[in-house]
Amino acid sequence: MRLDVVTIFPDYLRVLDLSLIGRADAEGLLDLHVHDLRDWTHDRHRTVDDTPIGGGAGMVMKPDVWGAALDDIVCAALPGGAVAKAPGTPVAEGDQARQEGPRRVLVIPAPSGEVFTQRTAEDLAGADQLIFACGRYEGIDARVGAYYAACGVEVRELSIGDYVLNGGEAAALVMIEAVARLRPGVLGNPESIVEESHAGTGLLEYPVYTRPVAWRGYDLAATEPVLLSGDHARVARHRRDQAIARTAERRPDLIARLRPAELDAGDRAALARNGWVAPAGAAHPVPLVVRPAVDGDLVALADLAARTFPDACPSSLTPEQIAAHIAVNLSPQRLALWLEDPRVVLTVAELPQGLPAPPGETDAEALPAGALVGYSAVVAEILDADGALPAGLDPRPPAVSVPPGPDGAQALAAELSKVYVDARLRSAGIAATLLAEAVSVVDNMGVTALWLGTNAANRRAQKAYRHAGFRKVGTRTYEVGGSRCRDVVMVLHPQVKLPRPGRSG
Ligand code: SAM
Repeated sequence: MRLDVVTIFPDYLRVLDLSLIGRADAEGLLDLHVHDLRDWTHDRHRTVDDTPIGGGAGMVMKPDVWGAALDDIVCAALPGGAVAKAPGTPVAEGDQARQEGPRRVLVIPAPSGEVFTQRTAEDLAGADQLIFACGRYEGIDARVGAYYAACGVEVRELSIGDYVLNGGEAAALVMIEAVARLRPGVLGNPESIVEESHAGTGLLEYPVYTRPVAWRGYDLAATEPVLLSGDHARVARHRRDQAIARTAERRPDLIARLRPAELDAGDRAALARNGWVAPAGAAHPVPLVVRPAVDGDLVALADLAARTFPDACPSSLTPEQIAAHIAVNLSPQRLALWLEDPRVVLTVAELPQGLPAPPGETDAEALPAGALVGYSAVVAEILDADGALPAGLDPRPPAVSVPPGPDGAQALAAELSKVYVDARLRSAGIAATLLAEAVSVVDNMGVTALWLGTNAANRRAQKAYRHAGFRKVGTRTYEVGGSRCRDVVMVLHPQVKLPRPGRSG
């Protein structure tokens, strides 16, 4: 690749002789030329600028000087012997014909240009010649870019960010470094660009560490044990989770551009933990909020509860039996009681911006802003002033042991009464996030045994609970609309460490 930089400060570009770019130039991987624009002036003062036509502050760089310089450089011989055609008469407007032969791009750094990104760098890395026209003052007369574009030269006005520099040299250095390192042979280890921030994954890179393992109070053995485990699959998962968490925190705009089809179950769970949901079939992830339910949720919550309960029922139950159960146990009255009762923690998963219909589907498939798509209910086994337990608390099965808390703290049991997610958003990590939230809530309440009953046939739910740290301790029978069902009973002791997020099993 040939690189030409035209500037009135050629010395500014001397840093290109350093480091990997300098080595690539010395080894012939790049062919770097820095030109002094003033070499194309003809007056005694070597003038490159003049006052703006129309008045105003500052000076503008002259098109005739730039034209003379660029005519020569655009025609320069390329490595390998290819020679460009001289720019001829401008082609008619609208004629998109480009010069044939090697791909030459005239890059005009400008704060008003299209923003230079990693995608731009990847694109420019495929060119044969890049010519950087570094402006100063108020910039280069606008006819220069227009002229070369009209001649069929590929012209890109590129900004390196939303701020204004004094000249295009620093911008050209940035772009050259970003482009050149993508060229074969320039980087020592080509694999190092695969997982980088802004690479094809669409995520920022995970945090990186090296030896010593413990440094100034930061001990990776304590904070990042997975990285020291030697288990490559776990390390990869952990890093990917960290890349997702970091991107969600720092660059939510990048998360909003991810493609759900390219995400696996671990990615979706990590996204949900970080406030995004990526349902299969959706064009992109959308924001997710997991929060305590409030009075205003009552109607939507009752609707969600009635909608989701049937999905978890065994096929042996009739619709009438299911409806009878919902009428008693998931009625708006019951949910209203729970909302008022401090012994019940109701948590909802909300899509604050809704969910557009999947591509190709009608708007009927869309969810509105503020839609509730999941909820959980934890009911603590605490007597009220009248000695009564909370409404809807199931009898605790004998298999559930309730140990005292650490340092002899009081034993306290709670039932994870509900965790339901809208069928359209299954497998999007919402249930795992609701579960993690429930566990964290009960931990703060001092609960020492969180138990649940789930239909014995519902293996999928049991797997999700196991994943969250629950263990099967027995069974129970449970009545739904007068029909007896067999449930598996599972328990989690919150003070016992949970498996690290993102681990499968
Ligand atoms: N008057 C111009 C404007 O407001 O758009 C700013 C001119 S600036 C002072 C001088 C030169 O610095 C520009 O011609 C361009 O070459 C370079 N420059 C400044 N900011 C830049 C940026 N964010 N990206 C790329 N080049 C920049």
